Amino acid sequence: MIQEPIANLLDAMGAEALPCIHNEPLDRHTTFRIGGPACVFCKPRTVVELARTLELCHSFGVRTYLLGNGSNTLFADEGYDGAVICLTDLKTRSTAQTLPDGKTRLTAGAGTLLVSVCNRALELGLTGLEFAFGIPGTVGGAVYMNAGAYGGEMKDVLSKVTFLDENLKLQTLPVKELALGYRTSIFEQRNWCILEAEFVLEPGNREEIQAHMQDFMARRREKQPLDMPSAGSTFKRPAGCFAGQLIEQCGLRGFSVGGAAVSCKHCGFVVNTGGATCADVVELTDKIREIVKEKTGHVLEREIRVVR
Ligand SMILES: Cc1cc2nc3c(=O)[nH]c(=O)nc-3n(C[C@H](O)[C@H](O)[C@H](O)COP(=O)(O)OP(=O)(O)OC[C@H]3O[C@@H](n4cnc5c(N)ncnc54)[C@H](O)[C@@H]3O)c2cc1C
Repeated sequence: MIQEPIANLLDAMGAEALPCIHNEPLDRHTTFRIGGPACVFCKPRTVVELARTLELCHSFGVRTYLLGNGSNTLFADEGYDGAVICLTDLKTRSTAQTLPDGKTRLTAGAGTLLVSVCNRALELGLTGLEFAFGIPGTVGGAVYMNAGAYGGEMKDVLSKVTFLDENLKLQTLPVKELALGYRTSIFEQRNWCILEAEFVLEPGNREEIQAHMQDFMARRREKQPLDMPSAGSTFKRPAGCFAGQLIEQCGLRGFSVGGAAVSCKHCGFVVNTGGATCADVVELTDKIREIVKEKTGHVLEREIRVVR
């Protein structure tokens, strides 16, 4: 039976023709290919639709989860008993403006895939975003996580972020006020919806930028299990070492629970070998943590976001 607040929300959204679906399977929307249904799944196309969707959810007391490309998200097998608001259809304009010092201010909407922003930077001959080329997330997800790779992170190239705060008020904050740290940001503690990011990039050599992007992608293909569903690195890097190395040292290569397994190609990744459930991944990662702690003394912290 549909809960009353959900039914009321669906009716109100239907009446205003806001894009939403009831009982949408979430495994279709995450790179792990795991997750039960969302009671309500919304895909706003404009900021106005997004703000109205959030407003209606708040007014009916329905909890919300903001979803980008789902490449760092693990939804529960039971699904999500609120509204998942996916931002990948959000149409926003990307702008590029040359500054007096020769740098360029590039803006991108939250639902834009990082690869598109990287390609735009390449097209314009701008350097700085090469590290992000193979990260399969959206701008919003990457800002929220302060995504990084190969020595670079969002923090290095971001200048400001525009978002809707908990009162749905439009706000912009400069990067220094976003508490960006290793795979964390202020957005982890606040109920804010990222709308747009502004990057400041330096002029560079197009061939060199492209060569760096291709090199990073080749390294990923060589080392990471890109042919299997996953959410990237399962654990954060503990101080002074790599989670994958610790897991390997403990003899856990290929270790599995149900359909979830430690990748044989890269021990830092848990992969879905087929039919893995959220419960499998959680049990497997708990066991890994326990064994690694016992054998090495290191405490691993999950990087993937488990949403129940
Ligand atoms: C094969 C593979 C390789 C990866 N490699 C890397 C890597 O090298 N470096 C790295 O850092 N990560 C990596 N990741 C993880 C992931 O791609 C990044 O964390 C990415 O930034 C997540 O973006 P997303 O849009 O998919 O986020 P989601 O998984 O959709 O969301 C992640 C978090 O961000 C929040 N969020 C999303 N959009 C918004 C928004 N607009 N406003 C507010 N909150 C929002 C969500 O609520 C959630 O808490 C990898 C993942 C895979 C599958």
